[in-house]
Amino acid sequence: MSDNQEKDLVCPACGEIMKKVFIPDAGINIDICIDGCGGIFFDNREFNKFDEPNESVDEILRMVEGRTFKKVDESEQRKCPLCRIPMVKMGSGKGGVQIDVCNKCGAKFLDNGELLKIREGGEVDNTKTDELMNSLYKENLRNVLGENANKPIKSSPRRQFFEDLARKFF
Ligand SMILES: [Zn+2]
Ligand SMILES: [Zn+2]
Repeated sequence: MSDNQEKDLVCPACGEIMKKVFIPDAGINIDICIDGCGGIFFDNREFNKFDEPNESVDEILRMVEGRTFKKVDESEQRKCPLCRIPMVKMGSGKGGVQIDVCNKCGAKFLDNGELLKIREGGEVDNTKTDELMNSLYKENLRNVLGENANKPIKSSPRRQFFEDLARKFF
């Protein structure tokens, strides 16, 4: 058991305690900053199964629905809440999706503003959803799928999860 499985995490962007959730359909472990900035922290254990609170996307959306999140400076350097070392910015910037990555444990942090970029003008931008999936899961996918990892996964439950989040997060 790592620390992360027992302890609630402190949001790397705003310092609030995050809510730990596991999405069985998408096979994703996340900590969401429900009471703070709305950021999402992805630890690196998404292919493991264990006894964490199980939630559906709908339950998450119900939790965040109607909430206004704290504004945070997305250009600020974050520290990994697990390793306490600085995270590195990844992604294209310039209107593209950008995330913070911990090079030690592989954890990633997504600002809620990044989900807004995916959903522009009410529509979910498929290119940006792909970009986000790639930034978040490329190394993991490579391990699991070998060379097929570079092919876009168009209709996986995981991708659906991100589309749903982007569509309804605010
Ligand atoms: Zn936060
Ligand atoms: Zn870390």
